[in-house]
Amino acid sequence: MKTPSPRPSALLRRLRRSLLVAASCLLASVALAQAGAPATPAAPRPGAIDRAQLLDAGKFAYQREAARLQKERKFDTETSNPTYARWLAAPMVAVAAQPPYAVSDWAWQIAVEKSADLRFWYLPGGNVFVSSAFFERGRFSASEIAALLAHGYAHEVAGHDAEEAALRLAAHPDGKSPDPNRRLLVLAEILTTMGQRDPYQRVHERAADTIALDLLARAGHDPQGLVTLWKKLAVAALSANTGVVAVHPSWPERIAEIEAQLPAAMANYEKARAEQARAEQARPAPRPRPAARPTQR
Ligand SMILES: [Zn+2]
Repeated sequence: MKTPSPRPSALLRRLRRSLLVAASCLLASVALAQAGAPATPAAPRPGAIDRAQLLDAGKFAYQREAARLQKERKFDTETSNPTYARWLAAPMVAVAAQPPYAVSDWAWQIAVEKSADLRFWYLPGGNVFVSSAFFERGRFSASEIAALLAHGYAHEVAGHDAEEAALRLAAHPDGKSPDPNRRLLVLAEILTTMGQRDPYQRVHERAADTIALDLLARAGHDPQGLVTLWKKLAVAALSANTGVVAVHPSWPERIAEIEAQLPAAMANYEKARAEQARAEQARPAPRPRPAARPTQR
């Protein structure tokens, strides 16, 4: 693992502030959930998987995978990568709590797997696994890593996995087992397999890119990061199977299709940045900085 690259302190300030905002939103979301929060756009259609069941299975599968990584000493807790990833995610979590997504009951966990391969996958509830290779110095920018997370979140808020998981659960011999723990286990296996290996359809990829642009822009992350992310991953896939490209297959017109949506996304991005700048100016003067500065990412 290389030494983490320095990043602008302005970004850190913005991300720290966003983290606080996100924490406030999450606390409010918990209260909403307890009071019976409304269904989100990600809720599966009637007759599909129960939303609570899907989130339980996602949480269970995440915990099981995280435990496996810890056992194999691949769970990154020593570097600042996990904190950095959460800083990048925080403003998008805050956006996802707002309409039209109104996601109020997700765990939003991010685990960094120590791996030289470009690995990225996730489970329902905003439970993400991203490999340390994405954080190597100079390889991917902040907006590109944010775009990676945004694309995954987009698939989830759109309910793409829920549709497919419902079909597979219905086809599984134990999908209707009277034992709820057995059903949970089966669904967790299905979600893990889908997340790590099974490619999305192009229609889902296209929809996820559109939602990702919205999440990025309104969170104050440069939406152009989505374009450069896919370009870099396409190049990386020529020399190695990144895993990401296999699960999120591309097509020749993809970049042009994203770029056609950039003007609208950039307008929202500039608006979000302006609001963040106003909020920054309205804050009281910070206390004197301690002599020993923390390591910056
Ligand atoms: Zn995708």
